[in-house]
Amino acid sequence: MPELPEVEVVRTGLERWVCGRTVAAVEVLHPRAVRRHLAGPDDFAAQLTGHRLGTAHRRGKYLWLPVEPPVHSPDSAAAPGRAVLAHLGMSGQLLVQPQGSPDEKHLRIRFRFADAEATELRFVDQRTFGGLSLHDTVPGDPDGLPDVIAHIARDPLDPAFDDDAFHAALRRRRTTVKRALLDQSLISGVGNIYADEALWRTRLHYDRPTAGLTRPRTAELLLHIREVMNEALAAGGTSFDSLYVNVNGESGYFDRSLDAYGREDEPCRRCGTPMRRRPWMNRSSYFCPRCQPAPRPAR
Ligand SMILES: [Zn+2]
Repeated sequence: MPELPEVEVVRTGLERWVCGRTVAAVEVLHPRAVRRHLAGPDDFAAQLTGHRLGTAHRRGKYLWLPVEPPVHSPDSAAAPGRAVLAHLGMSGQLLVQPQGSPDEKHLRIRFRFADAEATELRFVDQRTFGGLSLHDTVPGDPDGLPDVIAHIARDPLDPAFDDDAFHAALRRRRTTVKRALLDQSLISGVGNIYADEALWRTRLHYDRPTAGLTRPRTAELLLHIREVMNEALAAGGTSFDSLYVNVNGESGYFDRSLDAYGREDEPCRRCGTPMRRRPWMNRSSYFCPRCQPAPRPAR
């Protein structure tokens, strides 16, 4: 499943290869890929055709491109902003491909552009849990944030992420630390793998109640989350310069050996104790029982 760094790689690719281009035609090859666009595939295509796409933005694992109104539209100033929103789901890919290159087996949506660059944008998704949709934007939002994701918190790599507010929210909530890291209303973009890696680096057990976290502990946790994400971004960065905007959850980060995730029974890289795996909310948590001791059960 693509996590934030992979999605950021896609955003960078869209920025380079798609932003500023005017849509000439949209072909929806599978209606499921636009199921969140309630007016249907034909409306999705019609609403985008002839419009220029703006700067690519990301919040957590969501990507969006503002849809600019036609230059000479008389009511463009009054009309609400719109944006095309993408979620990659489990297996979604956004690919920039040369026109005429063979269709991918799971090609779901194709964008052609009204310019001389002989490339097109393709949404490919084997399992089709992801998709594209058009939405109104939050009035006054400078990035054209789609209204349907307004409830999603900023991610820790966002310059506007508020560390103090995050700490205060952790202290207020009756929850545990890994649950909080995966709660999109508190912090976005931290998936299961990155959470386990950051918790291992911080020597925090996933089940530790957040109410007891001190400010320095929260700061340390955020530092490690950012480190893990930035390392993953650096590993995925090799694709920045390629024509192919490609994400399938298999970025370079997963080639490097992780410290926690997937290391059951292997020695902790800090203390040598065998790492453990525990079922956790239909997933798994990997941790070192010595470096990350479980919280004492409540009396
Ligand atoms: Zn250890």
